[in-house]
Amino acid sequence: GGRRADRRPRQQAAPRAPAPPPPITRTITLAEGMTVKDLAEKIEVKAKEVLKKLMEKRMVLTINTTLDTETATMIAREFGADVKMRTFEEEMVVLESEVIDPGDLVPRAPVVTVLGHVDHGKTTLLDAIRETRVAEQEAGGITQHIGAYAAEIDGRRIVFLDTPGHEAFTMMRARGASVTDVVVLVVAADDGVMPQTQEAIDHARVADVPILVAINKIDKSDANPERVKQELAERELTPEDWGGQTVMVPVSAKKRDNLDTLLEMILLVTELGEHKANPKRMATGAVLEAKVDRGRGPVATILVQDGTLHVGDNFIVGTHVGRVRALIDDRGQPLKEAEPSSPVEVLGLTGLPQPGDALQVVADAAKARQIALLRQNQAKEKALVSRGTRVTLESLQQQLAEGEAKELPIIIKADVQGSAEVLAESLAKLGDERVKIRIIHTGVGAISEWDVLLASTSNAIIIGFNVRPDRNAAGVAEREGVDIRKHSVIYNVTDELKKAMTGLLEPTTRERQLGLAEVREVFKVPKIGLAAGCIVTDGSITRAGDAQARLVRDGVIVHEGRIGSLRRFKDDVNEVKTGIECGITFERFSDIKTGDVIEAFTVEKVATV
Ligand code: GDP
Repeated sequence: GGRRADRRPRQQAAPRAPAPPPPITRTITLAEGMTVKDLAEKIEVKAKEVLKKLMEKRMVLTINTTLDTETATMIAREFGADVKMRTFEEEMVVLESEVIDPGDLVPRAPVVTVLGHVDHGKTTLLDAIRETRVAEQEAGGITQHIGAYAAEIDGRRIVFLDTPGHEAFTMMRARGASVTDVVVLVVAADDGVMPQTQEAIDHARVADVPILVAINKIDKSDANPERVKQELAERELTPEDWGGQTVMVPVSAKKRDNLDTLLEMILLVTELGEHKANPKRMATGAVLEAKVDRGRGPVATILVQDGTLHVGDNFIVGTHVGRVRALIDDRGQPLKEAEPSSPVEVLGLTGLPQPGDALQVVADAAKARQIALLRQNQAKEKALVSRGTRVTLESLQQQLAEGEAKELPIIIKADVQGSAEVLAESLAKLGDERVKIRIIHTGVGAISEWDVLLASTSNAIIIGFNVRPDRNAAGVAEREGVDIRKHSVIYNVTDELKKAMTGLLEPTTRERQLGLAEVREVFKVPKIGLAAGCIVTDGSITRAGDAQARLVRDGVIVHEGRIGSLRRFKDDVNEVKTGIECGITFERFSDIKTGDVIEAFTVEKVATV
């Protein structure tokens, strides 16, 4: 009756919850390296207010403390402002653009990367151009390998990046540097389009860099340039003489035939791109290579992209600062200054930067040091939590739930070409007005480091169909936070994607291997059937907790289930470590053969982003 009502919990005064943050009403732009004072000015409150908010978050700072992005964003949001961040380099460009005269812009030399399948002649071509177009200008003509060189034709320069190979190209892009104005795709006329040719095409497309084709080895008797053109046309690179857009130049790198035409065509193709720079501004550039040199300390090859780099300039490069002590060009000559589109060795660094890091000359060396320090700290933190910004199926689902239309780039690797094609087709069809699915690369074979880097730079996910990542790839994927979905049934792939698109994807689980054991002999056990006499070859085999086990025969999974019994001699044990013999039975399964591998693993839930 009436008493019951009294038992209801009384309306309690809410515990003193922090006031809900105000609605976000505006967006402000902040620059990397801002202080508490800078932030306060931007959000138009007193610095004291900002310090108070920081105190509430248990951060005791002063008004001149440099803030990291996360903290600044958090505080700004507390005051109703969303934040757009500019890197220090971007901020410099903005600041300088206010004092720069557009009349100072002058054309700069185009920068070329040579890509193509292994053995199609990339190195030979680069060497041939270097020897015919660089050395002849200088008495003595000793060229140095510094990662890039400038060739000259009819008094005009072209810069060649001298590290052929897709990794260099991708690595640079992964680190945010876009240095290449045109890709020269080398295809051997006696071999045609090969897997790495296709990879190179995909990479150039993702990077939105025009492709010029050098059909190489035309001196060979079995050269068939027409077939190469045909194969390229099938990949939407239609030669000009067939009415298409792609310039294709037949060359022989070995005989040095037609190289001048190739260079002229590079100039022609890049002229349209209107590559300009302002030699009067403070230099910006990108690291092509870096090494520690005995006697000279850290040395970086920098491609000056804009402005002029002088001896004596202070700069920041990645997480390091420096002051240019010397500049050395690709012919080993010391320089006083380096203009836009010059590859130069720079001495005077305080540490070793990474390829792809940006170099920015600064007026304020103290500010540069502060930012370098901030970046070093952030790099440390980032190494701890590398995930977050990458696309995963879970984050896609979340973004869709928040009403954002998305594009989902996908890389498909499969065991056979047929499956890759079928998958590409069926996945492309799944796209709708909210999610546009773009297959940026398909290939056959294990998921390689290269695939992962491509995924990382283009924010793609990788679908592995009956293939697994190789050792390097798994590590890089982990570091870069690239989502790799492994499947062996086509329906499951499409189903999973559909679920992600409709918001029904379950939290992902991740498998962790506990140990491996090899079956050395098989013996009969009364009532159970067959038991495996094993030796543990890796980790440990355990029957504790939620451990599961599978039986693998010749790389194929035969059975998955739980371990029934685990024995050392006659004793039941919970765990057996590497190098130790044991007897293993499965629950309700006994088709075991000598030579099988038993893998113990657990399945862990992965928190959605
Ligand atoms: P990369 O792996 O693409 O750098 O290829 P390389 O430049 O190392 O060349 C591979 C092989 O092809 C070498 O043996 C070269 O001598 C040869 N080669 C390169 N260009 C030509 C060419 O134009 N004609 C002929 N006949 N052989 C070439």
